[in-house]
Amino acid sequence: MTDFASLELIEPLLRALSAQGYENPTPIQESAIPPLLRGDDVLGCAQTGTGKTAAFLLPILQRLATSQRSGKRKIRGLVLTPTRELAAQINDSFANYAEFVDLRGMVIFGGVNQRPQVSQLRRGIDVLIATPGRLLDLHGQGYIDFNNIEFFVLDEADRMLDMGFIRDIQRVIRMLPDDRQNLLFSATMPNAIVKLASAFLTNPTRVEVDPESSTVERIRQVVMYVSKPNKKRLLRDLLKESDIESAIVFTRTKHGANKVVKELVRSGVEAAAIHGN
Ligand code: AMP
Repeated sequence: MTDFASLELIEPLLRALSAQGYENPTPIQESAIPPLLRGDDVLGCAQTGTGKTAAFLLPILQRLATSQRSGKRKIRGLVLTPTRELAAQINDSFANYAEFVDLRGMVIFGGVNQRPQVSQLRRGIDVLIATPGRLLDLHGQGYIDFNNIEFFVLDEADRMLDMGFIRDIQRVIRMLPDDRQNLLFSATMPNAIVKLASAFLTNPTRVEVDPESSTVERIRQVVMYVSKPNKKRLLRDLLKESDIESAIVFTRTKHGANKVVKELVRSGVEAAAIHGN
């Protein structure tokens, strides 16, 4: 089995990984880290949970940490991701992996006051993790300089397209310097992603990992047609009658999630909501 040292990662990164309790690279890390350290563009087909974040952050950290920096910190790495939750997670991972190197990362996303983000940007950072809207907004206001970007990551590209970010992505790409290393990660590879990838990746090394088993094999999927007023009762009955110990219920809106929780609690089911607020 390969270990992290044989992937030729530098000692401060190895130390951070062992502090995280990671013993061996995951398959996506094993296949993505060597081409990324060589400077190749990478097209990665991998889902969340495969360790893809470390697969792209570690080589970027290594290449930044081992190259000369002169003067003030400049944004040299940009990670674009569709949601603020993902952006925040990537930023947490960055902080963990960068513990023993002198590199600063930060996260920006919309829906919160921009002032703290602006003052953090002014102090100088090396890697910016961002959602597209706020990134373009702050760039438009002159707070972000794209001219020194050497690494560009498009994470969860399929979700980005689903969420309607294609134009924003294209706008960002047009503003980046030509000479840079590009990474695109996506859980699925529909035509739109292949097209996007071929528009900005140069001779990419393709890496992919299959999920352990697909949802179709592991999960019994059922569709139930039910009128809106009966949905509550159906959910309650499903939870009570089919000896389910724990469950995740997805709703379209945050308000919907809160409502379902209230109704479940009222009928004696312990429940809590998780959403962006
Ligand atoms: P990701 O797919 O990037 O969202 O990562 C999924 C989870 O796996 C995260 O909680 C990581 O901290 C963890 N992880 C990533 N790489 C490794 C590794 N080599 N060994 C153990 N855990 C890992």
